[in-house]
Amino acid sequence: MQSVDNTVGQLAHRKKTLPQHAQILELNQDRSQLERRRVELETQVSDHTREQRRIDADVEQVRARRERTQQRLDTGAVGSPKELEGLQHELVALNRRISTLEDEELEFMEQLETEQTELDSVRTRLQELDQRVGALASERDLAAGDIDVAVQQHLDERARLVGALPEQLVTAYEKSRAQHGGIGAAALVRRACEGCRLELNAGDLGELTRSPVEEVLRCPECGRILVRTSESSL
Ligand SMILES: [Zn+2]
Repeated sequence: MQSVDNTVGQLAHRKKTLPQHAQILELNQDRSQLERRRVELETQVSDHTREQRRIDADVEQVRARRERTQQRLDTGAVGSPKELEGLQHELVALNRRISTLEDEELEFMEQLETEQTELDSVRTRLQELDQRVGALASERDLAAGDIDVAVQQHLDERARLVGALPEQLVTAYEKSRAQHGGIGAAALVRRACEGCRLELNAGDLGELTRSPVEEVLRCPECGRILVRTSESSL
């Protein structure tokens, strides 16, 4: 029964420390970093797209004005040389404004392109990460499922043992197990208790040797149930 309990404990530990847990945790850390970057880039792309549209609208407006000015010059309907000069100055100023705006627009477009490229790559990496996490989670679930099956087999075996052993002995074992860190019963191997690893003195050993086989023995050092075996050297 102690060995069954040990195995169940080992299986629980193995389930808790499956390598996939740590791998998923690590990937999720990468993922949250990428996720932050994605949100950042999406905000930038959206801000810069809006900005670019605004400049685009400004360019359109200034172009329309230049068109009107040009038309007035072309029709020759301008009265005075002063007015003509004024319109020509305006045309130069409008052209300068358009060129400035177009430079600005170009800069935004270049920025946008860089941001969009990075955003695409971040999105691809996020997808890849999701796939890897998904695959690891399936692996982990499969392994955990196998462990669960093994645990259930051992619990069934334990139930069979509980049914077969005297109730008092089972109670004593459970109590001893609770008191001694999960090891309630220990074998006596070469005069030493496997629970506390202490060698028993000759007097105690003599007493054990004289005890009837059906008597439940205790380790005089740690108090665990002591199981006599063929290796006990009694
Ligand atoms: Zn002991």
